[in-house]
Amino acid sequence: MKDEISTFDLFIDGQFIKPAAQQYIQVKNPANGEVIATVASGTEADVDAAVAAAKRAKQSWKQLGAAGRSDILFRIGECILENEARLAHIETIDSGKPIVETLEDIRAIADQFKYFAGVIRSESGTYTKQDGEHMTLISREPYGVVGQIIPWNFPFLLAGWKLAPALAAGNCVVIKPAELTPLSLLELADLTKGILPPGVLNIVTGRGSVVGEHLVQHPDVQKIAFTGSTAVGKRISKSAADSVIPLSMELGGKSANIIFPDAPMAKAIEGATMGILYGQGQVCNAGSRLFVHQSIYDETVAALVAHFKKVKVGDPLDEATRMGTLISEAQLEVVSNYVETGIAEGAKLAYGGKRMLEAPFDKGYYFEPTLFTHVTNEMRIAQEEIFGPVLVVIPFDSDEDVIKMANDSEYGLAGACWTRDIYKGLKIAAAIETGLFWINEYHLAPSGTPFGGFKKSGYGRDNDKSALEAYSQIKTIYISL
Ligand code: NAD
Repeated sequence: MKDEISTFDLFIDGQFIKPAAQQYIQVKNPANGEVIATVASGTEADVDAAVAAAKRAKQSWKQLGAAGRSDILFRIGECILENEARLAHIETIDSGKPIVETLEDIRAIADQFKYFAGVIRSESGTYTKQDGEHMTLISREPYGVVGQIIPWNFPFLLAGWKLAPALAAGNCVVIKPAELTPLSLLELADLTKGILPPGVLNIVTGRGSVVGEHLVQHPDVQKIAFTGSTAVGKRISKSAADSVIPLSMELGGKSANIIFPDAPMAKAIEGATMGILYGQGQVCNAGSRLFVHQSIYDETVAALVAHFKKVKVGDPLDEATRMGTLISEAQLEVVSNYVETGIAEGAKLAYGGKRMLEAPFDKGYYFEPTLFTHVTNEMRIAQEEIFGPVLVVIPFDSDEDVIKMANDSEYGLAGACWTRDIYKGLKIAAAIETGLFWINEYHLAPSGTPFGGFKKSGYGRDNDKSALEAYSQIKTIYISL
C-alpha cells in the first residue's frame, strides 16, 4: 500500500498542474506525526485558473444530459469501489480515523455517486402546465460553476456528498479540501481522470483564508456549498453577500442523545458510546450531550464507563481499532482545554480526560475516551462544540424537562432517543429542534437520508435528492398557444 511521500499539484482542467506560487504544504499522519505528502498551496491565481476551466467545461457537461452524466457518475461509483482499499488507507493515514470507519465512508460515497446516477435518470426536472390557451414549461437548470469547501473530519465523505449531486445536476465544480486532509480527494481526481471530462472537477488545495475566501468572492462562481465550523460559515455568508449567490451551510452541532428508563439498554449503551467516540468525537452530529433519566442515572453511568474501557484505542490502520487519533496538536489542545474548563465549572471526570502519552501512543494525537458527570446544561462543556471524545452526562426527570434542555442549544443538527415506546420516541422526535433525529439508532445516514441542520447548524441538505434542487435553479417558459 502506498506509504511513500508524494507531491500533489493542483487538479485543474483534467490534469495536475504546478501552483502559480510554487509553494507546498506538508501533510502529516496524525497517528505518528510523519510527513506523508506535500500538496500545493494554492493562490488566487490558481482559483482563477480552476474557475476558468470549470466555466469552459460547463456547457458541454450540461448538454451531456441526465443520461450521459448518470453513466459517468455510475462509473465513478464503480471506480471508487474497485479502489476502496487504497482510498481507505489514504484516508486513514491522512485523518487518523480507524480503517473500519474510513472503509465505510469510501463505500458510502461509491453508493452516493450511484444513488445520484439513479436519481437524475428518474427526476428529469422538467414538467409542463397547460390550461387550454397557455402552456408553461418549467425546468431546472444547473448554476454553472459551483464552489465547495470541505472540513477535515470526513474528508472523502463530505466531499462526495457535495460532488455527486452538484455534478449530477449539471454543474462543474471547484472544490477546496481542508489543509490537513486533502489526499483522498486528490486520489479520486487521479483515479477518475479518464472518466470525467476535463474541467468538470477541479481541486485547489491550500489555505482557507486564501483559496477559500477567493473562491467565495469569485464573480464566476454561482453557488457556494460549505461544510465546516459555524464561525467560518458566518464569515463566508458575509463575504458572499455582495455576489448575491445561494449558499448551503453544514455547520457545527451539540446533539442531544436521550436514554429513557424503558430503553433497549444494551443498544443504548453502545449507541451512546459510539455516538460520541465514533470519529474520536470529531463529528458534527456527535451525540455529545447525553441525557439520562434520573431513575437509571447511576447504573447507566457505570455501564457507560465499563463500555468506554472496552473501546479499543490504537493504530488507526489496525482493523480492531475503534478509536484512532485526533487530527492535530491544535485539536488536542482544544479538547484538553475543554476538559480543564469542565473541571473548573464543577463537573466530575468519571473516565479519561487526558492525552495518551505512553508508547505506542506517544507520537500521535491520542486522547482518552472521556466522560463527565455532575454536569448542568448551562456549562460551557454542555453548550459548546468540543469536537473530541468528551461526553457529558446530564440527568432529567420528565419528558418536558429533557425536551427543554435538549432544545436549549444554539445548534440543531441531530439528536436521538432510546425507548421501547415508539409513541414516546416520535413525540420526542417531533419536539426536538434538529434537522435529523434517530430513535434507537445513532449516526446512520445512508444515501437518501437528508442530512443538515436547524438553527446555527446551518441550512440546506446533503445526502438525498433534495440536494439536486439546491444545485439547480428553476427556469419557467410561458407559451401562449
Ligand atoms: P473550518 O470551518 O475551520 O474549516 C472548514 C473549511 O473551510 C476548510 O477547508 C478551511 O480551509 C476553509 N476555510 C477556513 N477559513 C475560510 C474562509 N475565511 N473562507 C473560506 N473558507 C475557509 O472547520 P474544520 O475545523 O475543518 O471542521 C470542523 C467543523 O466542521 C466543526 O465545527 C464541525 O461541526 C463542522 N462540520 C459540520 C458538518 C455538518 O454536516 N453540519 C459536517 C462535518 C463538520
